[in-house]
Amino acid sequence: TAMYAAKRGGRGRYRVYTPELDTRARDAELRHAVADGQLLLHYQPAVDLRGDVIVAVEALVRWNHPERGLLMPGAFIDLAEETGAIVPLGEWVLREACRQAARWRTEVPAAAGIYLNVNLSPLQVKQSGLVEIVTGILAETGFPADRLVLELTERIVLEPDEATLDRLHALCELGVRIAVDDFGTGHAAINYLRRLPVSLLKLDRSYVAGIDDDPRAYAVAAAVAGLGAAFGMHVVAEGVETPAQAGRLLEMGCRYGQGYLYHRPQPGDELTALLTRAELL
Ligand code: C2E
Ligand code: CA
Ligand code: CA
Ligand code: CA
Repeated sequence: TAMYAAKRGGRGRYRVYTPELDTRARDAELRHAVADGQLLLHYQPAVDLRGDVIVAVEALVRWNHPERGLLMPGAFIDLAEETGAIVPLGEWVLREACRQAARWRTEVPAAAGIYLNVNLSPLQVKQSGLVEIVTGILAETGFPADRLVLELTERIVLEPDEATLDRLHALCELGVRIAVDDFGTGHAAINYLRRLPVSLLKLDRSYVAGIDDDPRAYAVAAAVAGLGAAFGMHVVAEGVETPAQAGRLLEMGCRYGQGYLYHRPQPGDELTALLTRAELL
């Protein structure tokens, strides 16, 4: 990668930015976006593969950038993680998602049983005030702790420090559930799962994608399904795109799925309409 990126500065001159300056400017822009209300959430349901009933909804952040249009998380989450902007961003996501999901519970009584899944970055999990922030947001929005699922990446659960472990157990005490996201990609020492209050494994979509024609992907997926059963954890397959994949997953004992075959991520009001169609619940 280039050490310097030349950008057109004011008055038609070229100015030279170091990558550090560029990072700082982009960080400032992102923090401003959070405060300025430029972020929004899309929601993707997860279903019970037997009957396609919606069991959960995952909040996925987008950035409605004033010049660049709608940005997907791939365009800004890594930077946010690097600079720490993910902390205020993630707190905004949790608050907004709980607010929206609390509204669904009152507007669509049949949706009261579904879970709300929110992604937490490693930095958020390492934050000493995390439990207080979660407690505060639940109190403020009225969303019940026992319907909230926090999705953690495999890296953080692989080697949690004692304080992180305490925080996860404290969240669990509140009734909040913990999921391991992208499961299978981090070469997790599966042993760690025994120490952690995890109730959900999200099988990474790379395995789902290979389930039909790659025997190794099939074997990993089946192993994760078996692990879930042995540990009393639910398994949600990510990125289910074809009926054949869904059939294979069911046959290996994976009961839940999320993917374009069922529902794409969509704005909150579209999901309200979807949830209102009661046959989906
Ligand atoms: P993820 O948590 O694994 O979320 C699932 C991603 O897979 C989403 O991408 C979703 O749109 C996509 N997806 C769902 N079904 C299918 C399918 O059938 N096929 C394919 N090919 N893709 C599917 P998205 O929304 O671009 O999010 C990407 C990642 O960004 C997320 O991956 C998550 O790691 C991160 N992310 C999103 N929102 C947040 C957030 O609020 N906080 C944090 N820390 N990370 C977030
Ligand atoms: Ca996730
Ligand atoms: Ca995932
Ligand atoms: Ca992923």
